[in-house]
Parts: sequence; structure tokens; C-alpha cells
Amino acid sequence: MTRPILARIDLAALRHNYTIARRLAGAVRLWSVVKADAYGHGLMRVATALADMADGFALVELEGALRLREAGLRQPILMLEGFYEAEELPAFAEYGLTTVIHSRAQAEVFCAAHLPARLPVYLKLNTGMNRLGLNPDEVTVVLEMIERSGLASSITLMSHFADADGPRGVDWQMDALADIAATGAAMGAGGGVGALPQSLANSAGLLRHGQLQALPRADWGRPGIMLYGSSPFPDQTAAELGLRPVMTLQAELISVREIKPGERVGYGGTFTAERPMRIGVVACGYADGYPRHVPNGTPVLVDGQRCGIVGRVSMDKLCIDLTDLPQKVGASGTATLWGGDANECLPADEVATAAGTIAYELFCGLAARVPVVESMTEMMAEAI
Ligand SMILES: *Cc1c(COP(=O)(O)O)cnc(C)c1O
Repeated sequence: MTRPILARIDLAALRHNYTIARRLAGAVRLWSVVKADAYGHGLMRVATALADMADGFALVELEGALRLREAGLRQPILMLEGFYEAEELPAFAEYGLTTVIHSRAQAEVFCAAHLPARLPVYLKLNTGMNRLGLNPDEVTVVLEMIERSGLASSITLMSHFADADGPRGVDWQMDALADIAATGAAMGAGGGVGALPQSLANSAGLLRHGQLQALPRADWGRPGIMLYGSSPFPDQTAAELGLRPVMTLQAELISVREIKPGERVGYGGTFTAERPMRIGVVACGYADGYPRHVPNGTPVLVDGQRCGIVGRVSMDKLCIDLTDLPQKVGASGTATLWGGDANECLPADEVATAAGTIAYELFCGLAARVPVVESMTEMMAEAI
């Protein structure tokens, strides 16, 4: 007997979400971002489900990239942080991986390598995120170094947006990119930085900044979270964007009890009943990946109805208020912690907001002990 908890991965919803990204991208090709085990959805499952549609896959784990190749996937694979050590480069060449080069030190290691084949290179520029990427004053010299090495089969400019989902938008970073291109051209670097194809947009860029896809050099977008059916925006829901949830986390009620006014629930007694209540215990806790820090009232769906969490989430269970649900909801009910289908859905984004985080973290945090099953929602299965 296994614990009654389950994560369902709806591959039809995944494919549906991909078609939304595809439509927004126009002529721009798309790296399906599958880092972190496809945001917790299962790398091989997701890549296989998208294999006939995806232009390419992007991730950060070399082991994952090799698994994709060994499974027979032929698409380009982009390593978003490039290689970490010179020893990895022969595998990049052997498996035909595209490498990011984001620092001068990494460029030096690349240019000193002896490779059996040339690699496609993504030159990552820092346009204001200040995480990875070459600073404006390094771009020309590094580009020349890579061109001179003869080890790059192609070079694409890449930059990442810090606030494509927020109020600062992307224009300030696009201005920084234009400045870099103008300086590069003035210094006569090769065909000029500005002549290189570009990869800029993440999900938020695709969904909200259509101008990026219309740029003359726009070549590849890099959608991640939207493929998994979550909205990158605090002010727009996934449903409003036409996205469908891919991951549904469900667990059963394993106990129901009545409590009297004044009684408390759970560790620390952080919830006190003000009326007679019926409390359901759901077999899902923080050791399953449910965030411990959610407040009282965080929604859980039972029989399609919203119930609020009461008291602290424990390691293996959490408690919900069933008082206002019909009496027939007993210890055999199923609770949806996030996800669902078109009829009945509790967006992971909503739970994430209650927990003070983002759905990315909920998905990636799904614990290994939770069994995962794949499904194809019927309505969508017909459509593909
Ligand atoms: C993770 C990642 C993405 C995808 O971002 P989403 O917000 O999930 O669409 C795109 N580009 C880079 C460099 C990333 O690391």
C-alpha cells in the first residue's frame, strides 16, 4: 500500500502550452527549457512529449543533455550556463551540444580546447541582470577571441531579462544591448556584434513583449514556465493567458474530526476554532514539497470546492476546514493541492503567492517520494 498522494503530469496540456508559445514566437525558433528535471515535471517525460514539436531543448545539467541524446533526440540542445570545466567540452562536441559562453575566463578555456568538432556558441551578454554574461566592455575582445579560435560553428548573442514579468520591462535592457552592438560595430569587430542572431525572450518576453519576436535578428526564444502552465505575471493568470496546468498534486483525506470552539489545530496551535468545525487531514506535507509557510486559509480543492488550510503544514500532512462542505465529504475525499483541469482548477500560482514564492519553486520542489503518473486530458488528447 502506498501513501495516497500523487502528482499527475498532463502531457496534452504541456503540448497545448507549447502551441501557445509557438504561436507567439512567429518565425522565431524555441528552446523548450527543461532544466531542473523539466521544472520538476520529469525531463525525459517532457522532452519525449514535445519531441515532435520542439525546435530544441535548453537545460543546465550535462547528465540530462546526454540522456536526451541517448534517448535519440536529435534537436539542438543548449547548455544555458555552458560548461563548468574544460573536461566537459569533449562531451559537448561528441553529443552536439550548444554551449553558452558567459565570461572571459570561460571563453579562454573554450579557445584553448582541442575539440573533434566545432560547437555552436551562445555568447551571453550582461545587459543589466548582473548575474551571468559578459560586460559591455568585454564583448568585442571575447567575440574576436572565439572567432579566431575557429572552434565555433556559429555564434548567437544571448541575454536574459531581469524584469520581463514586472514593471521595468525589457526596453532598458534592449537599450543596453543596442549600445553594445553600436560600440562593437564602431570597433569593427568581425561583422559586428549587432549582426549576430539573437536569443532573448523567456516566457514573459514571449507573452508580453511581442516586439522581441519581431526584431530582425531574433532567432530563438527560451520559454520555460509557460510550458508548464503557470503565469510569469503577478497580475495575469495562466488561464487568462490560455495556459493549462500540467502538474496536478492530489492527496487523499485520511481522517476527519469534529472540534469545538476554542480548540486548536496542529503544531504550535496557530489556528483556533471560533465555531464547531470539521477538520480534514490530507496526506500531503512539506516532505512532499508542499510549502510549510502557507498561512491559514490557503486554498485546497475538495470535490471542486475550496477549503482553507488550518494550522501549520506538517511533514506528512496538512489540515483543512471542511465545515462548510456537505457532510458526505468524509475521510475518503480527494484533495487537490494545486493544478486540475479545465473544469476544476486551483492554480499553482495562487498557492505559490500564499506561500510567498512562485510556482517555479513549487514545481521544482515536488519531492521524490511523490509518485508521478502521466495523463492526457481527453479533450486535449483529441486535439493533437
Ligand atoms: C530558466 C531560463 C529561461 C526560462 O525562463 P522562464 O521564466 O521559465 O520562461 C530562459 N532563459 C534562461 C537563461 C534561463 O535560465
